Amino acid sequence: MGVSVAISLVLFWTGFEVVKAEESVYSLPALQTHPLPSSLVHWKDERNGGDYFNQIRSTPVGYLVWSEFPLKIYVQRPSNSRDGEASFDRFQQWVDAVLSAVDEWNEYLPLVEVEREELADIVIKRSLPPLKAEINPETGLFDISPVRSGQTKYKIYLRSGSTPVLSHRMTVEISPTQSNDSIIATARHELGHALGIWGHSTEETDAMYLSGVRNPPPISPRDINTLKKIYQQPTRLGWSLQN
Ligand SMILES: [Zn+2]
Repeated sequence: MGVSVAISLVLFWTGFEVVKAEESVYSLPALQTHPLPSSLVHWKDERNGGDYFNQIRSTPVGYLVWSEFPLKIYVQRPSNSRDGEASFDRFQQWVDAVLSAVDEWNEYLPLVEVEREELADIVIKRSLPPLKAEINPETGLFDISPVRSGQTKYKIYLRSGSTPVLSHRMTVEISPTQSNDSIIATARHELGHALGIWGHSTEETDAMYLSGVRNPPPISPRDINTLKKIYQQPTRLGWSLQN
């Protein structure tokens, strides 16, 4: 069954500005699978460690699968302005830690750094993810969740062209207020979400385990088995709208 969307209500990103599409009604692209990226075609887990695909959520547009490689990643940089030496160095250490996590994933999906934020598929920012306060229905009091070390969000937009392509963009926030090893572990975990692992592993030996562990594990075979399965799922992303 086709899903329709009134494009006049959708704001999309053209690379430089947000524009409003003309008044017309398109159908969302049908759910289809993309060819598996060759880096994942070649992946084989000799030990058959299994996966946690059953923990991965689909979205209204299907699985959050990328289809054009290399993926463009923007990592926030310190400005050269009047920053004190120490704060510049701390920022640079954060950048280096994030880039080492980018390097780790680059083995499984091709990633390239871009210098302009507006060109990126994945934007990585150095900021404190906001605290979430929720009313606890049992006590009637506010529950403030513990400070999060990182957070990843996605946005759907239409990439303009002869026919608009349903696309997504990820924004990752990684807190600066943690040790270097924790920044790498957080970046590794959040990048896993940004690459499409939209869910958590239930085993502490996986990078996508739900909460922080004392000695964060590297990307595990189970992480990649899961990633590979996700990239074999149908999605509406990366396909042209139909009118
Ligand atoms: Zn997570």
